Amino acid sequence: MPANFKAELVGCFGQPVAENPTGAMQEAAFRALDLNWRYLTIEVPAGRLRDAMAGMRAFGMQGVNLTIPHKVSVLEYLDEIAPDAAIIGAVNTVRRDGDRLIGENTDGKGFLRGVRTDAAVDPRNKRVVLLGAGGAARAIVTELALAGASEVVVVNRSVSRGEQMVAGLASKTKAPIRFEPWHGAYTVPCDTDILVNATSIGLYPDLESKPPVDLRGAHRNMLVCDVVFNPPETRLIQAARERGLPVLDGLAMLVYQGAIGFELWTGRKAPEPAMKQALRDALGLA
Ligand code: NDP
Repeated sequence: MPANFKAELVGCFGQPVAENPTGAMQEAAFRALDLNWRYLTIEVPAGRLRDAMAGMRAFGMQGVNLTIPHKVSVLEYLDEIAPDAAIIGAVNTVRRDGDRLIGENTDGKGFLRGVRTDAAVDPRNKRVVLLGAGGAARAIVTELALAGASEVVVVNRSVSRGEQMVAGLASKTKAPIRFEPWHGAYTVPCDTDILVNATSIGLYPDLESKPPVDLRGAHRNMLVCDVVFNPPETRLIQAARERGLPVLDGLAMLVYQGAIGFELWTGRKAPEPAMKQALRDALGLA
């Protein structure tokens, strides 16, 4: 076989990006499958995304991840948006199909892969309570709705933000999504199957904070999920463990959204154990 010194390129555009651990995870996956691919973590300020996307096309990059502040503004530089990403209204992964750039959103799908794979729970026909109405919440609620959850109750502090998100997603997905305002401690209904914290409460350095929820009425199989991955052992996850409830931490969503991105780019099954370990190493976890 003739030598081939050309690497395939993928990467991440965002600002700030210095603490983004995705590169460590994707590079570990390339090594595990002996692929000559590179993942570049690139700082792109808000006003330079147009140039960065033109550069991506010029370099023939196979794809990129978008993080803050580009997940919505990237929409205007793409040739096509996947249906679920269009409902969410944000793209975290771009893939190439020939010369066309296609926008995908793997955040919510990554969350669902974690629920199915690590917690062995099928979200179909499940009753879900989800805390938060930001970007992570939008992606997760959309995928839960498309996966056939029987009800998604969105609980958020800011009423107008929560109501707007729910009205938009309920009409686009035709799924039973409803809103409840968050005043004081929210009592989780006893028929809830899955509780998701999709707020930033508990995110470093806010280590001592816990979403004000009352878990006392929860049934013993209710799965408690947190999207916060730094640290993965949040106060909510600890409280759920103390009650003997099954838990899913934010690392699962982070690994699986990356695994889905890897599969979209390379067409290969992601080596998830290698990706998980690389992420834990990068974050300094045991
Ligand atoms: P946003 O800023 O878009 O939304 C933040 C949400 O948290 C809002 O609903 C906000 O409520 C709520 N919130 C924040 N502080 C409080 C508080 N003290 N009390 C009640 N509600 C609060 O953030 P994102 O959706 O982008 O991110 C949320 C979290 O998800 C972050 O911790 C992020 O790291 C994590 N994340 C994890 C991923 C993973 O792969 N594991 C992927 C993406 C995000 P309000 O509307 O009232 O302000």
